[in-house]
Amino acid sequence: MNETAAVSPRRPTRPLTLAHRTNPVTVGGDAPVSVQSMTTTKTADVEGTLQQIYALYGAGADIVRCTCNDADAAAGLAHIVPRSPVPLVADVHNSHRMALAALEAGVHCLRLNPGNIRRPEHIKLIASEARDRGVPIRIGVNGGSLDESLYRKYGGKVTPEAMVESAQMELAYFAEVDFDQVKISVKASNVPLMIEAYRQLSEVTDHPLHLGVTEAGPPPAGLIKATAGIAALLAEGIGDTIRYSLTADPVEEAKAGRQLLEAMGLRERKGLDLIACPSCGRAEVDVIQVAGDAQTALEKLNLPIQVAVMGCVVNGPGEARDADLGIAAGHRKGHLFVKGQVVKVVPEPEMVDALVEWAHRIAEEGVEGALSHADAGAQAEAEADRAALLVEQGADVNHAEQRVDLIRRRISE
Ligand code: SF4
Repeated sequence: MNETAAVSPRRPTRPLTLAHRTNPVTVGGDAPVSVQSMTTTKTADVEGTLQQIYALYGAGADIVRCTCNDADAAAGLAHIVPRSPVPLVADVHNSHRMALAALEAGVHCLRLNPGNIRRPEHIKLIASEARDRGVPIRIGVNGGSLDESLYRKYGGKVTPEAMVESAQMELAYFAEVDFDQVKISVKASNVPLMIEAYRQLSEVTDHPLHLGVTEAGPPPAGLIKATAGIAALLAEGIGDTIRYSLTADPVEEAKAGRQLLEAMGLRERKGLDLIACPSCGRAEVDVIQVAGDAQTALEKLNLPIQVAVMGCVVNGPGEARDADLGIAAGHRKGHLFVKGQVVKVVPEPEMVDALVEWAHRIAEEGVEGALSHADAGAQAEAEADRAALLVEQGADVNHAEQRVDLIRRRISE
């Protein structure tokens, strides 16, 4: 992984492990960048929370956070922890007692906000208990809840320097009780601020970093903001675990995190990667509709496969030749291709079913095995349809050359 020059080598960090009984997750060091999300259920609702944790796990989350905001939530965690398929982080604000209660519940990690648990003796008590139990803590600095004294020190503004200093103050308390199993986040909803805070933090510490743009909002804007911040840092080699904070079903957060890491070559593909052409004047089919239907049908298979949906056979198989499997429309037919080679031609209404059938075939027999089932005449039929379309539509179906002529005439008038 991480083979392309576009992604810098990971910044070395000291690893820590969230010691789940069967599924421990290491964060930092050379461990893969992990995906986190957070439940939206009341933690006291044990069955509802577990259901959501399993959904997040299925969508690609390696670690899940639950709020521990009252005694009922802590009691809920005691029942949830032993049944969770992934390590659990207890999110604690304001009350150091809730942090201690979460440790009693057996959580695998704590998240503390230095902006709202401020008394040194409380911070050190929590760190001592976590140290004795081998439970890591995330120092979760948040631009929106920075310590008052730091606001004042930095002129009433949230600055990268103030956020980094907040994390360092907390680290110093932890050091007093000899606790160093720490990961750190310095999240803000402002993307440039967040990027700069993480850059500065990465210069002064080798603790693993948890990346996120806080309160990014609903998709698609929230997805864009979170991706802009997280991807920029990952490309610089900064970041050991990530969370999308979206105003949406948290399953969307887990999916987005997973997809980002796969897209950047930082994690192996676990599920479907559907690519599709943007469509143009050559399209022989409603690409948006077919791509949507294909996504729905193929996603359920949970196969690590890249599938292309292309609007025309003129350019489709060639443009998507790297995809494991694809379909291109032409003359009311679907031209199914494997690694750019047309293997079968099906009637247009059967395009999605054919994709599902061949996705199974590739999963079972691999690409070479699937290619051995290619219909003898498929490639020739595709070539004939391609040639016919070129004759019907011309080589310049988008009339670009005509437009260029018009532009030239306008300019010379
Ligand atoms: S040329 Fe064909 S494959 Fe390319 S965008 Fe247009 S319809 Fe899609």
